[in-house]
Amino acid sequence: MAPFAPSSPTVYNFGSINIDHVYRVPHLVKPGETLSSTDYRVVLGGKGANQSLALARGGGRVVHWGQLGKSDRWALDTLSQGGVDTDSVRLVDGPSGHTVIQVDDKGENAIVLFGGANQAFTAERIDGLLDGAEFGDWLLLQNECNAVDEIIERALQHRLKIAFNPAPMTRAVKDLPLDELSLLFVNRGEAAALVGCDAESTTEVLTRALHEQLPETDIVLTLGSEGAWFITANSGETHYQPARPVQAVDTTGAGDTFIGYYMAALQEGRDVSTCLLRATAAAALAVQKHGATESIPDRDEVETFLS
Ligand code: ATP
Repeated sequence: MAPFAPSSPTVYNFGSINIDHVYRVPHLVKPGETLSSTDYRVVLGGKGANQSLALARGGGRVVHWGQLGKSDRWALDTLSQGGVDTDSVRLVDGPSGHTVIQVDDKGENAIVLFGGANQAFTAERIDGLLDGAEFGDWLLLQNECNAVDEIIERALQHRLKIAFNPAPMTRAVKDLPLDELSLLFVNRGEAAALVGCDAESTTEVLTRALHEQLPETDIVLTLGSEGAWFITANSGETHYQPARPVQAVDTTGAGDTFIGYYMAALQEGRDVSTCLLRATAAAALAVQKHGATESIPDRDEVETFLS
């Protein structure tokens, strides 16, 4: 597979960067209890960072727009060693976005999230970010940073195409100008919350409701081990890509791997079927390994898997 052409649009990812502190515990800590952890790891996370790394590992070119606390420069280095352009990641005063994650012997977890630098974007910073972006470039974003509404508004003024993954889904998402997006990535729960129907609804009901609500937006609906659907703007024509039948051990980050790989293929100018095929293959490889960033496959692995 040829890498992206020199004239390919740039993908700018306005995305969260988290530092995940992962503690292995015999059971999840109870109120008032002090519990010794048997293992401790610090790993890079956040949906934004995951998607940028997946995009880069998928052979794409991605400029990450994000913020980190000054003491976490290592995370910036990890992203840039992974092929992500980090020139526009700013090191700011105060803590990075971070999580404290307990994982018990049964694989259950409990997570405390602090938004930190991901929630500290200022209006001046948002204005400056779009300076180098050009008509036809893509803005990719999720819902883990503040100022999502402002960045969408500014990107529309600059006539960027916008790909949005409304995760985590909040009420505020419905107030965004979703009908002006070019591409929306939703999983089953996000789709159901967006259109106001039951998460157990059939795929047909979900895809129809999504298209009725956002007729001019291309939509990718991911359905875990059931694969993914693409709903074409205007015509409503659908494409289905089954998931690869694999033994999943940890689905954390499957959606982020899917989105990064999908955007990398789109940047190369690939058609919908190829974008879906590569994205589901990459995500199938990811779910066979533990962790989020650690489980995102390289493009060579995906090519071998597909051959
Ligand atoms: P997460 O929040 O866990 O990162 P998500 O809920 O955003 O994921 P999913 O719809 O669960 O997204 O999964 C995204 C894609 O990953 C699916 O469309 C599918 O291609 C792949 N995938 C997920 N789970 C499995 C699985 N068990 N086996 C194979 N592929 C899977």
